[in-house]
Amino acid sequence: MDCPQCLQTDVLEIEHVLPDGTEVRFFACHNCEEKWWNREGIDIDVSQVLEIVRQHRL
Ligand SMILES: [Zn+2]
Repeated sequence: MDCPQCLQTDVLEIEHVLPDGTEVRFFACHNCEEKWWNREGIDIDVSQVLEIVRQHRL
C-alpha cells in the first residue's frame, strides 16, 4: 500500500474487525503522517467507521 499523499511505501497497516463483523484496515504513513481507512479495498472516512461502531452499541 502506497501513501496517497506522499506516495511513500513506509505505511503502517492494522486490521480491525468492527462490532458488526465488518473488516476494515487502518493505514498510517510514517513519512507524512497521513491516516486513512479502507474497507474491502475501498477507502472510507473515519466517520463511517465510527458510525458502524455507534450503531452497534444502540
Ligand atoms: Zn505519506
